[in-house]
Amino acid sequence: MFEKQIRIPSAEEIIAERPVPPALAKIKRERDKSAIDVITGKSDKLLVIIGPCSAHEPAPVMEYVRRLGALNERVADKLVLIPRIYTAKPRTRGVGYKGMFSQPDPEHKEDTLKGIRTIRSLLLSAIEESGLTAADEMLYPENYAYVEDLLTYVAIGARSSENQMHRLVASGIELPVGIKNPMSGSIPVLINSIFAAQSPQVFKYHNFQVATTGNPYAHAVLRGRVDNYGNDFPNYHYETVMQTLDSYAFSEGELKNPAIIIDANHSNSGKKFKQQIRIVEEVLENRRRDSDFRRIVKGFMVESFLVEGCQKHDEVFGKSITDPCLGWEDTERLIYEIAEKA
Ligand code: PEP
Ligand code: MN
Repeated sequence: MFEKQIRIPSAEEIIAERPVPPALAKIKRERDKSAIDVITGKSDKLLVIIGPCSAHEPAPVMEYVRRLGALNERVADKLVLIPRIYTAKPRTRGVGYKGMFSQPDPEHKEDTLKGIRTIRSLLLSAIEESGLTAADEMLYPENYAYVEDLLTYVAIGARSSENQMHRLVASGIELPVGIKNPMSGSIPVLINSIFAAQSPQVFKYHNFQVATTGNPYAHAVLRGRVDNYGNDFPNYHYETVMQTLDSYAFSEGELKNPAIIIDANHSNSGKKFKQQIRIVEEVLENRRRDSDFRRIVKGFMVESFLVEGCQKHDEVFGKSITDPCLGWEDTERLIYEIAEKA
């Protein structure tokens, strides 16, 4: 049984309520190009996708992006900083807080229509006040249409990377789409996902049969893996990254723009969030030592917020209510370090 609760207007209707002003659209075009240039190798800057695990409330997220925007101006010759404004959260057991898209107030029930308007307004204010366009996870592919005019980076999560609809929609996105290795850590599954996203596809999307041209900027994000007993294992070390590079090489001619982003948290850190610093430092050192490693590792994903750690309920301003994050001081230090060693 499906009880119809709220009629949700189409993406066109929602966007028409509050379209992106031309000045902000221009910022987005420039930011998209800088991010794409990193993936294609035209630019040797590093992408740093950084911010809270989930954006549960606009005010602390705005404070975070303002700080990140100020920092961006100081490191822009070395890095492309992209704030994580993640509004849809996959839950390991399928229940609990599902993100601002579904729950604009984490302590209240789902209100998707209010959620959609809240995240559009947040993403717009973020560009306006920080000059930064954001990254989000495309957890529900059909919802991408509601924010496609606002993002610069799209992630496909570990629980979704084997899913047909995610792969098909990714093939029509004209932005870097980072596909995470699945929870099992299977690199063949990851490579197949990238292949599917880079291929032209025809499928039903919203009320149309659509044709895509394939997304040449779809690439890998290594997030570590979980074994059959629930233990975390990293895949950011030299050996595992080079094996992923070999899988890319094996598909030579089939895959464009080989690129790996290292996700420093999740199963790479075992959610020991402070370890993200050491993990990033190790990867930077491997980039320094090995030119093949350097060529393929094009950036980092880091979970960070104003206050370090996490909390069950939204009591401390700027502290994650999902995965534990680095605090602001560590974040600032780490960004300068990445810029210095990039
Ligand atoms: C995340 O990036 O917060 C996330 C949910 O990641 P993953 O899909 O790797 O678990
Ligand atoms: Mn997370």
